[in-house]
Order: sequence, then C-alpha cells, then structure tokens
Amino acid sequence: MTENTDEKLAAPTYPFATLPPEPTLAKPVRVLVLGGGFAGLEVCHQLDDPRYAITLIDRQNHHLFQPLLYQVATAGLAGTDIAQPLRSILSEQKNVTVLLDDVQQCDLDAGQVRTKHQTLGYDYLIIALGAVTGYFGHDEWARHATGLKSLNDALMIRRQVLGSFEEAERLGSEPHDEALLSMIVIGGGPTGVEMAGSLAELSRQVLPGNFRRINPAEAKVYLIEAGPRLLPAFSPELSEYTRQRLENMGVTVLLNTPVQAVEAHTVKLTDRTLRARTIVWAAGVRANPLTSTLKVPTDRAGRIAVAPDLSLPGYANVFAAGDIVSLKDPKGVVVPGVAPAAMQMGRHIAGVIKKDFTLAVKARGLPAPVPRAAYTYFDKGNMATIGRSAAVASAHGLSFRGFIAWLMWLVVHLLFLVGFRNRVIVLWQWMYSYFTYRRGARVIIGAERPQTEA
Ligand SMILES: Cc1cc2nc3c(=O)[nH]c(=O)nc-3n(C[C@H](O)[C@H](O)[C@H](O)COP(=O)(O)OP(=O)(O)OC[C@H]3O[C@@H](n4cnc5c(N)ncnc54)[C@H](O)[C@@H]3O)c2cc1C
Repeated sequence: MTENTDEKLAAPTYPFATLPPEPTLAKPVRVLVLGGGFAGLEVCHQLDDPRYAITLIDRQNHHLFQPLLYQVATAGLAGTDIAQPLRSILSEQKNVTVLLDDVQQCDLDAGQVRTKHQTLGYDYLIIALGAVTGYFGHDEWARHATGLKSLNDALMIRRQVLGSFEEAERLGSEPHDEALLSMIVIGGGPTGVEMAGSLAELSRQVLPGNFRRINPAEAKVYLIEAGPRLLPAFSPELSEYTRQRLENMGVTVLLNTPVQAVEAHTVKLTDRTLRARTIVWAAGVRANPLTSTLKVPTDRAGRIAVAPDLSLPGYANVFAAGDIVSLKDPKGVVVPGVAPAAMQMGRHIAGVIKKDFTLAVKARGLPAPVPRAAYTYFDKGNMATIGRSAAVASAHGLSFRGFIAWLMWLVVHLLFLVGFRNRVIVLWQWMYSYFTYRRGARVIIGAERPQTEA
C-alpha cells in the first residue's frame, strides 16, 4: 500500500485552473455522492445549499444503523427499527435527488460514474460505499458462515437461529444432530462479543418456558478469537472482564484459536473441529470491491489510500470517506472504520468543497494554488455491550464497565440512531425486553440461507 508519509501530510493544493465555475443558483455545482451510509449522508446534510445540486445513489432505499444489526439477528429488534428510507431522511432537503441504483464503475479520467441504469457526470464525486464482509481471502467460507453487514444478513441469521430451536422441538427426544442447537461466532471484536452475548441471553433467558420438548438453555454458544484477548481495542482489564462476563452467561470463549477452515456446519480449528448449525462471521471486513477498479493506491483490505484532505491522489475533485478509506491522520492516528469517523470525514469533505469556492472567488485569476486542510480524526472512544445490564466503554483515558457503561451505551446508540420514530420504538423495545425478559421480534421471516450440504 502507499503509506501516508509525513512529507505527504503537507497541505494538498487545488489548482485554480481546474476549479469548476463558482456556483450560482442558475448553475449549481453538481455533487455526486455514492452511498447513503454515515459518510454519504453527512456530506448531503452539510451541503444544504441550493447552489449545490446533489445526487445521492444507493442500492438500498434505506440508511442502515449497523451497530444494532446484532439485535435484529437475535430477535431483539425488527429490521425496520434500525433502518430509515433515505428519501424520507432527505425529504426536506430540496437540493438532494435520491436514486435507487447500483454503482458499477467510476471512470475518474472521464469524470463519469456508470450505474446499473445510467451514466452520470459530476463536478465533485464522493465515494462512500462502505465495506463488505471480509473472509481473509477465503471467500468460499461465506457459503457456510454468514457475515453481519446488511438487514438481509441479520434476518438470515435470525431465521437460522429460531428455525434450529423449532426443528429441535419438532424432533423432541428423537436422535438428532448435536450441531442443531450449537451456535458459533467467529471474531472477538465488538460485533462478535455483542452477538455471542445476545445469543446466550436468547437461549438462557428468553426462550426457556416457550418450549415443551427441549430445554433451549442447553444450546451451546461459542465465541472464537484468533488473538490472545477479546476486544483488542480496549484495555486488557476490560477484555478480561468481558471474557468472564460472557463465560458466566454460558458462552464458551476460545482465545488464541485461529480458524483453519469453515465448511458446512463445521469450523475446523488447529486442535479440534466444532459443529454448529449457525455460524456467524464477525472477524473482519474489507473495502467495497469497487475500489479495485479505480486505479488508485489501496491497502491490503482494498481501502483507498487517500490524500490528507480525503481526495484521491491525482483527482482533486474526487473524495472518499468512511470505511472505504485508509488513512493515517496528521497526528499519526490510523483512522478506524467506525461511524463517528465516517461522519467526521463527510463533514470535512463538505467543508473542503465550500472552501474551494470561497478561496476561488477571492483569488480567481491568481496563479497560486489553493491550500486545503487535512482531516484529523477526533476519537470519541469505544463501547461494546456484553448483554443485559453490562457493557465496557473507554474514552479519553477513562474506562467504564458494568451497568454504568451499559447505560452510556444505550444513550449513545439512541442518539446516533437516525429518525425520531426509530428512537422511540427502539427505546420502547429495550424497556420491554429489560422488564419482561422477552424479545419483540421473534417472527421467522426473510430469505432462507442457501442450504449447505451437511
Ligand atoms: C455489525 C456492525 C456493528 C458495528 N458497530 C459499530 C459501533 O458500535 N460503533 C461504531 O462507531 N461503528 C460500528 N460499526 C461500523 C460502522 O457501521 C461503519 O463504520 C459505518 O457504517 C461506515 O459508514 P460508511 O458511510 O463508510 O459506510 P456504510 O454505512 O456501510 O454505507 C455504505 C452505503 O453504500 C451503499 N452501497 C454499497 N455498495 C453500493 C453500490 N455498488 N451501489 C450503490 N450503493 C452501494 C450501501 O447500501 C450503504 O448504504 C459497525 C459495523 C457493523 C457491520
């Protein structure tokens, strides 16, 4: 990959000669935003000005709050509770046109983007297409281990988990595959921890009493992590607290355990083989595959190595933001793939675009280039829940765990969730689950996972 060296961290410049004409109401600047996730949406919000004609393209009609996907997968929330139609979010912003379409190619030299249905030009292009589940070069594992990146993924996992309990009840005391009531989560980061904790709660606290022929609490939940501890972004003490808490909830935590292979209902480890009907992959992501067609430097995960102002090297009017970006900021911090970073980048890009014009208006005709500010990441801290009433959080040198961290987690996630209706519904669902030990989204819907031969 092209590393961002100190030398390259010098403020980038934008030659006047290539600046689009100053925007006017009669001839607004065309801004094309690819992806309506945290980054793309923030660019739109920040350029709420009729002198910018924004077109936002997404292949889904909704913005998805991915941090709560695990609750959809484990029947705590309905899919619609964490998604909001982009058209509705932006209904008041008259300078944005939303198009439901699939971006297929960006020809940066021609200044064109080709989608499934049309070809579009732009004055500024913002690529904010996010990440996809990454299987460390073993794409064949995707057939057997479901990632957690979309509503479809979450609904598929929910169907698999609830369907397994139904099948076990149908079989009752008849001999059946021990894998039926086993669940494996691969990856001990926040998503894996939250998923494993929630599966353990579902089987131990929510489902018992609803079944007559089986005891759901006997279901096995494994959490497998290749490294020496869970939640490597947190302090060792919080990692250890998380491990103990999960084990008390009935999760079998396997550390220092790299996965060798994933096959149908089977996970092969170095010293043994585990079998499970439900296998969830929470071990990693890689950039949207479209980056491989851009002819710009990328890192090993396919993320675009952007210039400090977030533009693409050699293309001053093309930016990338969010999970699709690989960047070390001026303080030397590797910017993580989290929602606050994506939003901050969106805000930065909008600021750069506005400034391009302010400076150009002041200095049009002068030969000097316009300097641009570099993006600096503001770290708001890390959080992860470990189930009912427990979480870990760290921010600005302070660490929290247990109930207080859990309350912090609830508040932060409610605040970041897009849409007032969704906030009210999610708060209501959480209160309902907390006081009744029930989960409100236990209906089995969504596409069935393509059957893998057992
Ligand atoms: C399970 C999970 C849990 C997470 N938990 C947290 C958390 O607790 N805290 C936190 O800060 N972050 C969390 N994250 C990370 C956070 O969600 C991402 O960092 C954030 O969503 C990145 O924003 P983005 O705008 O770059 O991409 P995204 O939000 O992924 O948006 C990308 C958009 O591009 C669209 N798109 C993709 N390809 C195409 C195409 N070819 N054509 C058209 N549209 C396309 C997608 O439909 C999507 O709407 C979590 C992520 C996951 C998956």
